[in-house]
Amino acid sequence: MKNFDLAQTFQLDGLDVRGRLVRLGPTLDQILKSHDYPEVVAEMLAETLVLGAALASILKYDGLFTLQVQSDGPISLLVADLTSAGDLRGYARFDADRVAEAQTKEGAKVPRLLGSGHLAFTVDQGPDTERYQGIVALEGGTLAACAQNYFRSSEQLETVIFLGSEKNADGHQAGAVLVQRMPTDKKKDSDEAHEEWHRVVVLLSSLKLEELLAQNLSPDDVLYRLYHDDGVRTYEPKILQHKCRCSRQKVATTLKSLPRDEVTGDDGGAHVNCEFCATDYEFTQTDLDKIYGTDEA
Ligand SMILES: [Zn+2]
Repeated sequence: MKNFDLAQTFQLDGLDVRGRLVRLGPTLDQILKSHDYPEVVAEMLAETLVLGAALASILKYDGLFTLQVQSDGPISLLVADLTSAGDLRGYARFDADRVAEAQTKEGAKVPRLLGSGHLAFTVDQGPDTERYQGIVALEGGTLAACAQNYFRSSEQLETVIFLGSEKNADGHQAGAVLVQRMPTDKKKDSDEAHEEWHRVVVLLSSLKLEELLAQNLSPDDVLYRLYHDDGVRTYEPKILQHKCRCSRQKVATTLKSLPRDEVTGDDGGAHVNCEFCATDYEFTQTDLDKIYGTDEA
């Protein structure tokens, strides 16, 4: 599948507007395939992943970006994380009965499926570096609206995000376009600048999901169709791929940090399932002896 699994930077020359276009295809499908989520949960995770990739791509970082949506509703946790190398992974936690019940109701996705809570993102660049964090309450009908609220309230950056996902014969796909008015816009408060920004927003709202995800259109084609009158300039896209960072060694280290009786099952071993990629890690009693350093005792 060409033209998918990428994040592309663009800017509108002369308007002090920057943007990002993200398209996820096979990468998204791999992430969702390792789980057996109800379709509505898969959809929300797809939106979280594509939103996470869009937000990550506007930040300069060397390390790990994480987007977390935590709430008290049927879907209680959505996580997407993306390394600066383009490795993407994610998972969801949910209550199947409550999700089924929520599907019989009508209304905007966030209040219905997530309830109240918050959307938070962090950038972790390793030890001895400052952690960057943004957080906003889930006040909005969609994840995109909640993220827009964050930029308006915390960063005073006018931002509009269009995103969506779909499932077809080729699997799951998701896409996002984010446009942001730069604070450097000198004529920011003039009527002309307001009108220009308004036009950027109106044009984005004319975008259709099927157009954003059309396999015969490259990201450049999509952006050119939208913003050719505004001198859209696009940059080399960043490639995204599904890759989990879990390993037997990392799981062993985590186990070691916990009291042994808390991790030990009835058979004397430990069974750990990676929430991100669903890989099972089995540790026998002998393995645990080694981990806890009791084998020679
Ligand atoms: Zn994993």
